[in-house]
Amino acid sequence: KTFEELGLHQDLLKGVYDMGFSKPSKIQERALPLLLSNPPQNMIGQSQSGTGKTAAFVLTMLSRVDFSKNKTQALCLAPSRELARQIMSVVVAMGKFTPVQTEYAIKDNLPRGATQVTAHIVVGTPVKVFVLDEADNMLDKDGLGDQTLKVKNQLRSQPQIILFSATFPDHVRRFADKFAPNSNKIEL
Ligand code: AMP
Repeated sequence: KTFEELGLHQDLLKGVYDMGFSKPSKIQERALPLLLSNPPQNMIGQSQSGTGKTAAFVLTMLSRVDFSKNKTQALCLAPSRELARQIMSVVVAMGKFTPVQTEYAIKDNLPRGATQVTAHIVVGTPVKVFVLDEADNMLDKDGLGDQTLKVKNQLRSQPQIILFSATFPDHVRRFADKFAPNSNKIEL
């Protein structure tokens, strides 16, 4: 399959090719048709880093956002500041030919590895897509699972939920089923 065949918008195709990607990786080829389908579907994906999962969920966020609306429409939580920065750089690179506006919700002076997004920033925001990356690492950090569920419960809408994790021990599986109910499951 090609990126064209996955139905990406012209501006996103330009971004993808500008990054030097010539064809979708395996996870992108499998996940994007589900992630971009209408009505939106939840997805739980098992995938290591290095497989191209970031581009899969970043392209979904960029595809769902209505750039004519000056509102937060997609939210992505990650277990470390470093990962949040990496994801943001992919959003900016892939969105190079779109008018996307981005913002970090990183709170300084939190304990090392604490959540990157604080509830007051997202309360009442009717986002369309909610991504949780590296769920297993997220749950290794005290209280982050609860905080993530709290954030989700405070959203005014029922967004499309995308959860990625490299591993699925029981507690991650239980969390994933709660966080992203009725999901399509993709294993690499
Ligand atoms: P990730 O699994 O999201 O951490 O991505 C791993 C690496 O693969 C990153 O350096 C990406 O830039 C690269 N990558 C992602 N998708 C593709 C693709 N379709 N073709 C070539 N490289 C890619």
